[in-house]
Amino acid sequence: MRFNLENLVRENIKAMKPYSSARHEFSGTASVFMDANENPYGSALPDNFNRYPDPLQRQVKEKLSQIKRVPSQNIFLGNGSDEAIDLLIRIFCEPGRNNVLIFPPTYGMYEVCAHVNNVQVKEISLTPAFQLDMEAIEQSVDTGTKIIFICSPNNPTGNSIERNDIEIILNNFDGPVVLDEAYINYSSQRSFIPELTEYPNLIVMQTLSKAWGLAGLRLGMLFASPPVIDLLNKIKYPYNINTATQHLVLQALDKREWMNEHIATTVKERELLKENLSRLDFTLAVYPSDANFLLVKMQNANTIYNFLCSKGIIVRNRSNINLCEDCLRITIGTPEENQKLLTVLKEYKPK
Ligand SMILES: *Cc1c(COP(=O)(O)O)cnc(C)c1O
Repeated sequence: MRFNLENLVRENIKAMKPYSSARHEFSGTASVFMDANENPYGSALPDNFNRYPDPLQRQVKEKLSQIKRVPSQNIFLGNGSDEAIDLLIRIFCEPGRNNVLIFPPTYGMYEVCAHVNNVQVKEISLTPAFQLDMEAIEQSVDTGTKIIFICSPNNPTGNSIERNDIEIILNNFDGPVVLDEAYINYSSQRSFIPELTEYPNLIVMQTLSKAWGLAGLRLGMLFASPPVIDLLNKIKYPYNINTATQHLVLQALDKREWMNEHIATTVKERELLKENLSRLDFTLAVYPSDANFLLVKMQNANTIYNFLCSKGIIVRNRSNINLCEDCLRITIGTPEENQKLLTVLKEYKPK
């Protein structure tokens, strides 16, 4: 394989010495901790919040390792997927010199993180069928291209990207390919996590923000080869996942039935809502979705968006985005919420 981390990582990242925390330097058992300037009296809260959290979140990773069937050493945890996106750009992209590839319409944070780091973003629009334009991608990759971001199922279009196209990119691009699977739990497509052993350049991202219902705790998961994981750990903030998040996530991960039940309901509701939205006179298209939302093209989407707002229903207006003209992105709600949306939409009178 031509994937050679040594040649891909920025020199300053390779050369730097990571921060070494007090807990990092000591590994053994002790009963008196006078190494980290913590408060020995505890805190006003009934937990050990006075202590710094495990910088490597070992317990959480162990549990995730079982659930995802991937060794702990292949897992990095971030303060949301957003942290992982930023760290990857900082590891691989030389500001002002390198570029990343993204395929809009897609998730906004790849571009934002690249721009924060003064990294050029090459945009290669999806095809009208919301698939990768393989020819244009091949022509756009240059020697400065350091990361390719693929979102599948894609936000805001909802569809999965052709597996075969992803494999072609993994086989032909020498740098890291980041596959964002934030919505994989709602899809019938297989995750690429088992493919990690086959592709050293594959980086898979998932999150607890969607199917697990933990957007407020901020926990993003990244799965990659151990050398990539080591690089992420090297440059992250030492205590990026706080104690409360680690504790609560450990509890939540035991409740897989809760999650599976709600995934099933959401998928069922998605198909029902799709059918019902399709029947409205002013609906032009409801696109196929493998996610927990629907992209819907409607006559005068802006007006409908404002009408819904006036009725207290907020959807995502994507109508000013390329390929999403007159489109609203609607998150699948509870059966009651979806019914409310339909009832309100039926009151809408197109001019
Ligand atoms: C929601 C979403 C995420 C999740 O980000 P977090 O920072 O983990 O909350 C990541 N990628 C995509 C495409 C998303 O839509």
